[in-house]
Amino acid sequence: SALVSIDLVSLVYDVLMIFNQQPNQPKVDLQLLPDIHQLPVIGDKTRLEQVISNLISNAASAVIDKVDKNIQLKLKLQGEKVICQVIDNGPGIESDIIEHIFDPFFTTKEVGVGLGLGLSIAYSFIRDLGGTLVASNNPEGGACFTVTLPRGPCVK
Ligand code: ADP
Ligand code: MG
Repeated sequence: SALVSIDLVSLVYDVLMIFNQQPNQPKVDLQLLPDIHQLPVIGDKTRLEQVISNLISNAASAVIDKVDKNIQLKLKLQGEKVICQVIDNGPGIESDIIEHIFDPFFTTKEVGVGLGLGLSIAYSFIRDLGGTLVASNNPEGGACFTVTLPRGPCVK
C-alpha cells in the first residue's frame, strides 16, 4: 500500500459524496473545526477511504430505527494531531461488548449483514499509521468513533 500525503478534508468530501449517492441514507452533517482548508495526513488513500466509509455505514446502521436520525462527522486539528469523529444518535455501544467490537468477526448484525471485519481492519490500519481508533458513547446517547492521526506535511 502506497503511503502518501493526503488531505483528509477532500478525502472525507469524496467519501460523503459517494455515500450520499446511495438511496435511503441518512444525511451526514460535516463540521470543520476550525474552518480549515486542509488536514494533511500520511496514509494509503483507498484504505483511509475504507475506514471513513466503514464508520459512516456503521453509524447509518445504528440510526436505522430512529425517526430523528443524526450523524455528525467532525474534522479537527488539535496541535499536531488530526482528528476525525463519526458521531451518531443510535443506541450506543453496550458496556459488555465495547471491549470486543474491534475483534475480527465480532458483529451484532444478522448473519449475512455484517462480517464483523470493518472495525478490526480499521483499527490495525490506523494503528499502523501511528494513530488510534477509539470507541465511546456520547453522554446524550449514541456512539462516537474517534480516529486520531499524526498531522502530515502540507498537500500540494
Ligand atoms: P459489522 O458492521 O460487520 O458488524 P464492524 O467491525 O464494523 O462489523 O462493527 C462491529 C460491531 O460494533 C457492530 O456489529 C456493532 O455491534 C458495533 N458497532 C459499530 N459501530 C457502531 C455504532 N455506531 N453504534 C453502535 N454499535 C456499533
Ligand atoms: Mg461495519
